[in-house]
Amino acid sequence: MSDSSVATPPTPTKPHATKYTRNQPYISRVLTNDRLTGPESEKETLHIELDLEDGMIYTPGDAVGIIPTNREQQVEENLSALGFNGTERVLDHYKVEISLHEALTTRLGIGKLARGSLNQYAKLFGENVPEGLKKLQGQENKAIAEEYVWGREFVDLVKEFPGAVTDPQQLFNVLQRLTPRMYSIASSQAAHPNEVHTTVRVVRYNAHGAERQGVCSGHMGERAPVDASLPIFLHENNAFRLPEDTDAPVIMIGPGTGIAPFRAFLEHRQALGEKGPMWLFFGEQRRVSDFLYEQQFARMQAEGVLTKLDTAFSRDQGKKVYVQDRMQENASELYDWLERGAYFYVCGDASRMAKDVETALLDVIARGSNGTLEHASEYLAAMKKAKRYQRDVY
Ligand SMILES: Cc1cc2nc3c(=O)[nH]c(=O)nc-3n(C[C@H](O)[C@H](O)[C@H](O)COP(=O)(O)OP(=O)(O)OC[C@H]3O[C@@H](n4cnc5c(N)ncnc54)[C@H](O)[C@@H]3O)c2cc1C
Repeated sequence: MSDSSVATPPTPTKPHATKYTRNQPYISRVLTNDRLTGPESEKETLHIELDLEDGMIYTPGDAVGIIPTNREQQVEENLSALGFNGTERVLDHYKVEISLHEALTTRLGIGKLARGSLNQYAKLFGENVPEGLKKLQGQENKAIAEEYVWGREFVDLVKEFPGAVTDPQQLFNVLQRLTPRMYSIASSQAAHPNEVHTTVRVVRYNAHGAERQGVCSGHMGERAPVDASLPIFLHENNAFRLPEDTDAPVIMIGPGTGIAPFRAFLEHRQALGEKGPMWLFFGEQRRVSDFLYEQQFARMQAEGVLTKLDTAFSRDQGKKVYVQDRMQENASELYDWLERGAYFYVCGDASRMAKDVETALLDVIARGSNGTLEHASEYLAAMKKAKRYQRDVY
């Protein structure tokens, strides 16, 4: 009997988007892992495409959670510093018995050292806490402890104060869980039905005499080639959404990896033929090496999907220029867009950029309306209330 004569089985009900969670992730396949930044860039930013199962649905503005593993070299360093060989048996957070090697690879956060770990680690010494470690304990030494953990990993603590861990199970009290990292989704399913794309900056730095890397972004940078498997889950973010009115103008401020959700917004409106005007502000260090998605945006501009594109490359001239400076230069037109009902979005660095952009936005509103900063604050508050000011910053 040929296959074609076999009766077609009933179509299975589509799994719900939330079937996969951080505790029960979807094992995705890496379809693409391309470096977006040029070789001379100071940054290593990747474009990663992952496969999705039928029925896994997201909306532009959502994030994808990626569950990383620790580097083998790092695991070995920890085993050696702790004096274990990795075959010891431990119970994980769900009381499942696994090897210590497995625990250090997939369960425990052995990357950046948490301040809480200092206290838990010190407790293992009982009465005999080493003097150096004592000085990092207690509320009164919080600042010193913060300084100590900055740029250090667990293995540095173990090497400096060895001998505390006598039973590998104790590590579950000392170390935090290895947690998933979130990445803003950079694609639209209207354009790529069974895929999710991300824009990942690999965190690398040198601290305390060693080359360090971020756990998850390092995983993406070194151990996630095409065809590799990655446990992922989709994470809804209803606070970051394109306007329901597909004709409404949108202004998008997305320097660095903050560009990700705006690539998703643009792809979405392009794929669905939606006509609302879109204005993108992108910033990075250098045009020649750091202009993420340059060609795709040029095509979108040529097709009229991307109405306006303003870039700020901070290192391309003597005086540093950022997205907020470009906003100021375009103040009058920006205010006109706001008056026409534009939605204003910001994504990326929370520590400085988001605040600087808000300050610039208030100034743009004050100047445009010939009003005071107080009036501008009220204007912005009204925009927030109407969901016309949305931020996705980290
Ligand atoms: C909603 C959301 C969306 C996000 N979207 C994106 C995105 O689109 N793209 C993206 O790349 N990231 C995004 N992030 C950030 C991402 O989740 C991770 O935080 C980031 O990739 C770093 O994770 P990691 O595991 O590589 O690094 P970790 O192992 O978590 O290490 C990072 C830590 O290393 C330490 N560190 C870093 N640099 C130094 C230094 N020079 N000296 C000393 N210590 C240092 C700091 O303690 C820092 O917190 C998003 C975060 C959120 C919450």
